[in-house]
Amino acid sequence: MKTTGYAAHSAESEMVPYHFERRALRPNDVAIEILYCGVCHSDLHTVNGDWGPQPYPLVPGHEIVGRVMEVGPEVTQYKVDDKVAVGCMVDSCQECDQCKHDEEQFCRHGVTFTYGAPDRISGEITQGGYSRHIVVREDFVLRVSGKLDLPRVAPILCAGITTFSPLRKWEVGPGSRVGVIGLGGLGHMAVQLAVAMGAQVTVISRSKSKEADAKALGAKGILASTDDAAMKAAGCSFDLIIDTVPVKHQLDIYTPLLDIDGSLVIVGQVGPIEELMSVPLVMGRRRVAGSLIGGIKQTQEVLDFCAAHDIHPKCEMIRMDQINDAFARLAQGDIAHRFVIDMNPSA
Ligand code: NAP
Ligand code: ZN
Repeated sequence: MKTTGYAAHSAESEMVPYHFERRALRPNDVAIEILYCGVCHSDLHTVNGDWGPQPYPLVPGHEIVGRVMEVGPEVTQYKVDDKVAVGCMVDSCQECDQCKHDEEQFCRHGVTFTYGAPDRISGEITQGGYSRHIVVREDFVLRVSGKLDLPRVAPILCAGITTFSPLRKWEVGPGSRVGVIGLGGLGHMAVQLAVAMGAQVTVISRSKSKEADAKALGAKGILASTDDAAMKAAGCSFDLIIDTVPVKHQLDIYTPLLDIDGSLVIVGQVGPIEELMSVPLVMGRRRVAGSLIGGIKQTQEVLDFCAAHDIHPKCEMIRMDQINDAFARLAQGDIAHRFVIDMNPSA
């Protein structure tokens, strides 16, 4: 199937229109007309080559929402016109221990990411959601509840699951004290999800400028990481801190905020972190951990959780041809929460 999208042709070049082929449907494939695609900071890191060399031309996008156009003969769960979604993964071995317990992101044979990864069968490089159509194996397609407002669903597919997964793993519930470092795309989902689980949530931001916003999302308020006295006063006051900062940064200012046995979970920066002081870890049995997106079953769970709790990402809608401006603004932090591309704005 012929389709069109926007691709990066090198780490230095801008995103430009790109015409390419989607594979013919395999028996267990679903063909999707993409209606909306979120713009994740990971898209920018990837096309910029921050995470190593990429197989250009590359069409990013892994927060995909659309409509089923066609299904292969062995597809049982979806039919034409169903509202569906695709997140960060499009395939895995389905046989290893990780796949068997619904953590395909840790597939022992290597998960197939939605873009920039070799297809497990043909070897062709996967291309993501900044395009009009995608063909995906049924097992990696998700269902979107009619209770959700379709244009505002896409960021749940990455920002939502990436923060939901550690909230579940660390068993956040009523009374949990949760800190969220960075109020961007991931951060604003972390706040809403943790609040819906019953936690007391504080945003840890570089300044207090986003305080009204943090409170509107359900947080108690903002702890400014640049305010030394406030940071000292907040010592030992969190059970879990989710760190969404997208660049190399200092962790030592945050670890003393954890109570004894508390954990700081890195979901932001993938790469080197500043040298870590062990004293707060040793003296309080505190942990620093990491977390990668979440499995397919849990991605469906977070979509359904958002439908049940009326949680929607805050989206600034853009057209596909505005992506270069959106990337420039994302790099500068000049975005309230999440850009979402409307693939067919005149419809
Ligand atoms: P984003 O919308 O740009 O938000 C990042 C937030 O971090 C900003 O809003 C800002 O919050 C804070 N921040 C930015 N620059 C900072 C700096 N220099 N120092 C301290 N804080 C800073 O990005 P996003 O889409 O949420 O993604 C965040 C990171 O998560 C990216 O690196 C992305 O690649 C990664 N990610 C990881 C996974 C995973 O599976 N682990 C999945 C998706 C994304 P304040 O203004 O409030 O300080
Ligand atoms: Zn993402």
